[in-house]
Amino acid sequence: MKELIVLGSTGSIGTQTLEVARKHNIRITGLAAGKNAELLEKQAREFKPLSVALFDENEAKKLKVALADTDIAVYSGKAGVNAVATGKGDMVLCAIVGIAGLESTLLAIDANKDIALANKETLVTGGDIVKKKILQKNVKLLPVDSEHSAIFQSLQGTPNGSLKKILLTASGGPFFSKTKKQLENVTVKDALNHPNWSMGKKITIDSATLMNKGLEIIEAVHLFNVKPSDIEVLVHRQSILHSAVELSDGAVIAQLGTPDMKVPIQYALTYPNRGVSFDRLSLTEIGKLTFEKPDTDTFRCLPICIDAINKGGLYPAAVNGANEQAVSLFLEGRIKFLEIAELIEKGSSFVKNKKEFTLEDIYETDKIARESVLNAIKG
Ligand code: NDP
Repeated sequence: MKELIVLGSTGSIGTQTLEVARKHNIRITGLAAGKNAELLEKQAREFKPLSVALFDENEAKKLKVALADTDIAVYSGKAGVNAVATGKGDMVLCAIVGIAGLESTLLAIDANKDIALANKETLVTGGDIVKKKILQKNVKLLPVDSEHSAIFQSLQGTPNGSLKKILLTASGGPFFSKTKKQLENVTVKDALNHPNWSMGKKITIDSATLMNKGLEIIEAVHLFNVKPSDIEVLVHRQSILHSAVELSDGAVIAQLGTPDMKVPIQYALTYPNRGVSFDRLSLTEIGKLTFEKPDTDTFRCLPICIDAINKGGLYPAAVNGANEQAVSLFLEGRIKFLEIAELIEKGSSFVKNKKEFTLEDIYETDKIARESVLNAIKG
């Protein structure tokens, strides 16, 4: 059984990962999160890791006091999260939200850990750098995102070179079939009301704008070495078929199941073995599976992401940074729903693209994109 480090342990993916770890008696050696000291203390007491960290320095101080009666090392800040990411353990499950998860993932690879990757923004912003390091270090990169896990599962046993096309499914989110006019005044509460999945706030808003699907196209380009034009997005309202691959002979292979993130999390943790079943799928109860084309005129974030990955270089990082900023403004009630896509376009239009770029270039691009979004709402 693996020794596992969980980054983002207090979040939606993090807590579900710990449920899977509990089922399989997986030894947890490190836990890290942002600011939720209360939950991290509970997790630390249950799983008894060697070390824990909170990004928020003040909350980390409280945690240190709370765990003073244990042998668990308590770290703080970015350095503390990175210390947990590189501590004792075979695999790191990366579920910090946003580009904030990039550095700890890269350091975990440097420290020869296998990676179970939920944080799609890591590949969107730093895909080329991450992949280079994965090859250099000869460690595994296992997708946790349900669609990418489905693609990965569908490709098991297929010969190299036989993948022709990826069919990436999307639930359509809470605003499926709505017109631009109808979206003008939707609220944060409406946008957080996802029909099929219970997730963190940022990814739930990304699902409502279809940005999430755009980010997933970029993620798939990196994970499966395909061109953006080899990926077709299908709106599939039931979230039962989690994605599929079309092979060279026209055969389409898919992975189906109830919408439960514990399934792809478990697959990444037990790969290549199969774990236990959580909730069984009854196709007769579901009855009907439907597939439609996405409405890219209304949901502009999807074509914005496709354009960014076609341009390549630093464009995906700019689009991601602008989106992270715009989503937090929307969650704070400072902009309207439809402004998210507008601000991403404005915030990423400045990019001075480079074919070869460094990690510093990515962070600089992210910073300028965020500033451009903030300037755009002032102006
Ligand atoms: P949540 O918002 O629920 O959780 C985010 C986690 O990251 C929390 O533990 C949070 O800690 C932690 N965190 C935030 N900032 C920092 C930081 N600077 N340093 C350390 N930890 C930090 O998000 P989700 O679990 O929904 O999503 C996590 C990632 O997984 C995202 O990239 C998302 O796109 C991806 N994903 C999620 C899916 C889902 O079903 N939820 C499905 C597929 C992919 P705290 O709460 O203590 O502040």
